[in-house]
Amino acid sequence: MRECLILAGGLGTRLAHLVPDLPKSLAPIDGKPFLNYLIHYLLEQKVEHFIFSLGHRHAQITEFLQKNFSQLNFSIVIEPTPLGTGGAIVNSLDHINSEDFFLINADTFYTISFDQLESFHMKNNADITFAIKPMINPFRYGTIECDIFGKVKHFQEKKMMDFGLINGGINIINRKYFKEKKSGKVFSFEKEILEANVNKDRFYSLVQDSYFIDIGIPEDYNRGIIEIPVYKSEKIKKTLFLDRDGVINNLIPNDYVKTPEEFIFTNGFLDNIEKISNEFDYIFVVTNQQCIGKNIVSLEALTKIHYKMTSTIRQYKGKITKIYYCPHLINDFCKCRKPEAGLLDQIRAEFPEVRFTHTIFIGDSETDMQAAHSRNIKSIFFNHSNQTSSSIQKDAEINNWDSALTTIYNLSINKA
Ligand SMILES: [Mg+2]
Ligand SMILES: [Zn+2]
Repeated sequence: MRECLILAGGLGTRLAHLVPDLPKSLAPIDGKPFLNYLIHYLLEQKVEHFIFSLGHRHAQITEFLQKNFSQLNFSIVIEPTPLGTGGAIVNSLDHINSEDFFLINADTFYTISFDQLESFHMKNNADITFAIKPMINPFRYGTIECDIFGKVKHFQEKKMMDFGLINGGINIINRKYFKEKKSGKVFSFEKEILEANVNKDRFYSLVQDSYFIDIGIPEDYNRGIIEIPVYKSEKIKKTLFLDRDGVINNLIPNDYVKTPEEFIFTNGFLDNIEKISNEFDYIFVVTNQQCIGKNIVSLEALTKIHYKMTSTIRQYKGKITKIYYCPHLINDFCKCRKPEAGLLDQIRAEFPEVRFTHTIFIGDSETDMQAAHSRNIKSIFFNHSNQTSSSIQKDAEINNWDSALTTIYNLSINKA
């Protein structure tokens, strides 16, 4: 049975002047309490047992649930005094039966796939798994740093930065793990469990670039009033990420493309690029160019090569929105050389209407697939040399450009 613990005991201080006399989770959104939307969303995600941890103004929430959700399978747990997030979970454990349960904050609305998060949690045999949201200017939140497989390495305190991955407030917790780690009756889950154990325990995170809002501050509450009823944020652009070498142009064995003359388009690429371009709002090239760091190819030569690429693609009525390349060497250990996802994050930060949920990545290397995977982007492996590829994680595979369009349709990022 899928169980979800909902922490709704917060004081809601910052919203108090807008919704006096109401707990934050009952703040009205288009005439209905916020919690109403949240419960309907959780029902869509097949939550079967709801455990509400209440504190401040608990009687109003209990009354709301009894009146409006009498058919719902729910339990109510009341904090006698504020226990902190960790204490609130401990206080609720007796009502939870599953080995692994979902935990969410009652002031965030984040439309992830519970199925996806749960299978990721199980696959990794994780202690705790987070859904993480790519966010521009994330200084209101702490951010999470993880490796390309989603293993959490570090929790970064709130600070000014341009872009980061935040904990969107939906976690899966292994019950047995939590019981072993809990420290007393009053404590912070974030500080005393997460931050204290991040280096030794199995914390994983999965990117879910879906709609997210935290109604805890007036500005975002006002935005939520408009957006939550339609589940939507700004307009979203359908996006394609293309690797370059081996995908757009032929590989040169044991060498780099050093001149425009050496840049030869792969078979069928130009014949299909118009139709493929029509399927996407944006197409970005995402490429490792270690030849720059090695001083084998100058920036000037690279510019000429890329001019040939983009102008030819334009002649064939295709488009390239922008080219992103990593110039570093393997041993620089930069954050942008694939399989690291730095270039993808840079695109996401510079083009706010890009969503990883609505993006497809086509590449011919395992590292391309890993970079895509680390951001939960649908991946197509371009297997031009028909190599054995069963060990490579990917969503689809093609071996020529004529089959690309059908494969793109079948991945149906529209529905995401
Ligand atoms: Mg390649
Ligand atoms: Zn780099």
